[in-house]
Amino acid sequence: MHYVILGNGVAGMEAALALRARDADGRITLVSAEHDHFFSRPALMYVFAGQTSLRDTEPYDRDLYGRMRFERRSGRVASVDAAGRALVFEDGSRLAYDKLLLAVGSKGRKAPWPGADGPGLHSFVTLRDLEALDREAKRGMRAAVVGGGLIGVEVAEVLHDRGLHVIFVIREGWYFPAALDRNESTLVAEHLRGHGVDVRLGATVDAVRRDEVGRIRGIRLTSGEDVAADLVVSTIGVVPDTSFLAGSAVRLAATGAIETDDALRSTAPDVWAAGDCANVTWFDGTRRPEQLWYTARDQGRVAALSMLGDDVAYRRGTWYNSAKFFDLEWTTAGWVPATVGPDGSRVPPPDEVRSWWQRVPGRPESQRIVVQGDRVVGFNMLGSRWNHEPLLDWIHQRRPLDWVLAHLGEAQFDEELSPRFRVSAGRA
Ligand SMILES: Cc1cc2nc3c(=O)[nH]c(=O)nc-3n(C[C@H](O)[C@H](O)[C@H](O)COP(=O)(O)OP(=O)(O)OC[C@H]3O[C@@H](n4cnc5c(N)ncnc54)[C@H](O)[C@@H]3O)c2cc1C
Repeated sequence: MHYVILGNGVAGMEAALALRARDADGRITLVSAEHDHFFSRPALMYVFAGQTSLRDTEPYDRDLYGRMRFERRSGRVASVDAAGRALVFEDGSRLAYDKLLLAVGSKGRKAPWPGADGPGLHSFVTLRDLEALDREAKRGMRAAVVGGGLIGVEVAEVLHDRGLHVIFVIREGWYFPAALDRNESTLVAEHLRGHGVDVRLGATVDAVRRDEVGRIRGIRLTSGEDVAADLVVSTIGVVPDTSFLAGSAVRLAATGAIETDDALRSTAPDVWAAGDCANVTWFDGTRRPEQLWYTARDQGRVAALSMLGDDVAYRRGTWYNSAKFFDLEWTTAGWVPATVGPDGSRVPPPDEVRSWWQRVPGRPESQRIVVQGDRVVGFNMLGSRWNHEPLLDWIHQRRPLDWVLAHLGEAQFDEELSPRFRVSAGRA
């Protein structure tokens, strides 16, 4: 049996390990165009910042490939010949498979503005993106970072740390409306401005301005304002890196994500998909890719079991995530409904849903607890560190708000750095 895994990221690697755990003799080949070794994509910002080497972000030792007898193939795959059961590389060579896992991840969404194509316009998703930005970003330059999500704030931070003047351009009326409400976003924007970042809320890019030799001069906003910049980083989201599958037997959703069934099988025989590139069913019944490290890991493991013939289904657990906005910690767990839709329009709270929120006096810190009916369903914690595990337990145990408020301190990390939780000005 020859298992071929296209993509050497967390979904691909965890699938390879799960296959080897059950199939000692099968041939397993990992294919990647990006790097010969599995590294941590979430740690790319620290590599850019010079705080760690790329090698130090590798989750496993390099001998693992040898010990596991994983074969490796470098190169970009141009198409999948599902009828002939082979990958076709850009140089025309082929790699035959018996079972194929597509774990091809994401790439930066293409910047749609007139003038965007050309030098000086960057993304921050892949190693090549990092290398290109690293070559160009020099102390004293002005950088426009366009797009107010998690990657945008990371890029703003690392460029600011490098000594660039950062203009953070956010289309929506507040930062990261998919996850933060107006109170929380105000707190983050204040924090970023306090660090010297020029945060522009409600600002939409109309065009990228270039001079007569094509060098970036800045961006024009739809308000008519010209914002001077020497480089632009587009952080307007990621899309599945699947354009090479167009027209193949592997069906894609309109977003480009690979359609999968519950067992992560694609529509082509003996072809599975996992990680950022796979379209999966969310708790609310919608179909979208999940774009998180741990969900990619879990999907890789489930896809492997399915490839081995087990009767498995991928079920996403209760949502959690954590990140930092500069040095401001953020932990979210459970259901925290967005208050603004993808098009920027206001979304009314779902039935019976209300939020308890407080800002800790004198600190860039807040807690929000989402309640549905009489039970807590979600948490959004800003400015201090929280352990998501008890938060998830309490959601599963259907705890009421009073009980959670009485116990919340138990879920707090780093009491020496932030005061122990207590209700100060909270309100529902
Ligand atoms: C800057 C940044 C920060 C992030 N921070 C966080 C975080 O804090 N927490 C979190 O949970 N998630 C974070 N994420 C998201 C997380 O990194 C991804 O969800 C996860 O890495 C997806 O893993 P994957 O295995 O699906 O794909 P990937 O890691 O993207 O791996 C896909 C691989 O497939 C290869 N490939 C694709 N197409 C081809 C082809 N045609 N031929 C050959 N090879 C190909 C690619 O080169 C790549 O190496 C972050 C992402 C970015 C970009």
